[in-house]
Amino acid sequence: MTRVIDTDFGHREDDERDLLADDPPEPVVYAHEIPRRLVDPDAAKVIRRLNRHGHTAYLVGGGVRDLMLGRKPKDFDVATSARPYEVRDLFRNCRVIGRRFRLAHVLFSGGKIIEVATFRRDPSQHFEIIKPKLAKEIPLCAGPEPVRLIPSKSAVTEADDADLLITNDNVFGEPHEDSIRRDFTINGLFYDLERGEVIDFVGGVADLEEHLLRTIGDPNVRFREDPVRILRAIKFSARLDMGLDPEVYDAMVRHRGDLRRAAAPRVLEELLRFLRGGAAHRSIFLAWDVGVLSEILPEVASFLDDDLEGAELTFGRLKAVDALAAEDRLPSDAALLAALLLGPIDEAIEGATDVPVAYEEFVHELSLRLSLPRRLKDRIRLLTMAQRRLRTGRIQSIARREYFADAATVFALDRLARGEELPKWAREPGDAVYDSEPRPRKRRRRRRPRS
Ligand code: ATP
Ligand code: MG
Repeated sequence: MTRVIDTDFGHREDDERDLLADDPPEPVVYAHEIPRRLVDPDAAKVIRRLNRHGHTAYLVGGGVRDLMLGRKPKDFDVATSARPYEVRDLFRNCRVIGRRFRLAHVLFSGGKIIEVATFRRDPSQHFEIIKPKLAKEIPLCAGPEPVRLIPSKSAVTEADDADLLITNDNVFGEPHEDSIRRDFTINGLFYDLERGEVIDFVGGVADLEEHLLRTIGDPNVRFREDPVRILRAIKFSARLDMGLDPEVYDAMVRHRGDLRRAAAPRVLEELLRFLRGGAAHRSIFLAWDVGVLSEILPEVASFLDDDLEGAELTFGRLKAVDALAAEDRLPSDAALLAALLLGPIDEAIEGATDVPVAYEEFVHELSLRLSLPRRLKDRIRLLTMAQRRLRTGRIQSIARREYFADAATVFALDRLARGEELPKWAREPGDAVYDSEPRPRKRRRRRRPRS
């Protein structure tokens, strides 16, 4: 990778910075050819058409990050100078969504959606330009020192929490503003598909090369603005095997209590991403270690703290989840949560005279805290309550139930964690239905019609 353009802002004097308001800063640009076959052809189509109509359009966010790391992106998001209605006018298969902030969704066959967002900025954010402090922050290329943009501290450090929590609407902005409103430097990169260039305002390329997770700007401020970013830090560190910058780590510990005032559905979504992302074991371990688990799932955290054997089994089940994910056989969300909750649930119902009541007592607060949808809550109950039957091999009574395969998956995860062999019905739960042959129906004798 070579840097082809460099900024001269590192050499400006302080008093010249006021000019920046009218004069958007130059990014550091890296020539970096991402093989076309790795880029979603529909995302490429969207970008090309926007470009042909005179708009700037880049790949952005997680897609760029994953491509740079040689991983397969989950989705490809596009950022553009075009306004949502301009995007809509260019694509027949497009709808504009969102009430407060409008986004364009371009729809393709198979239900694929390419999200196209207009560059936007956080109106409360101003930026500073900083020069790298350490030699290792300089990307692996020769030439003048690169600089990076960070949200200006002076504008935000005085504010109290209520002011910091992001509540304001974003407004349309420039690419550099769109980049610095993002959470981590590795998520703030743009990719110019036509030119084969990575556009970096925030030092994300250097951090990708260092495998270092850093917030854009002061982590204390960025985590107070949006505590869910603490969970995202855990997810990225665990999934991408990235080191946490020490300042980021300290800020996670310091502000983890703020997760209690974060929107519950967002917390649940990030928890599910821990479990689905192929690094469930590492994510939950890190969340426990940083003290974040005791904020979002205190019942699991104290179980892990107090029960050494139970903790080992829980992490064993999560390792088994990761092994399934690696084979593209990811369990359902309910089975994932059941695998995580099984230890504390077993503990809560053990010896209870009224198991359903003991279960409900355990799950009540948890489901309020995470605002578990009813469907998910009921499903977790079915899966965990089925385990007692499965453990004693009494599968006949539930083998034909629709939830059997899911329950058998949870059972298999538990057995694998214990290093035990799997019975055949747990290896291929679909076949269990045929193991317990349905009884032949009694033939009703037809009544002879009365004559
Ligand atoms: P994943 O692989 O889990 O989807 P992602 O980085 O793509 O990770 P998304 O939630 O899909 O994450 O968000 C897309 C992009 O939006 C991110 O890469 C980041 O640039 C930005 N973003 C998402 N959440 C936040 C947030 N809480 N604060 C700031 N920027 C965010
Ligand atoms: Mg994404």
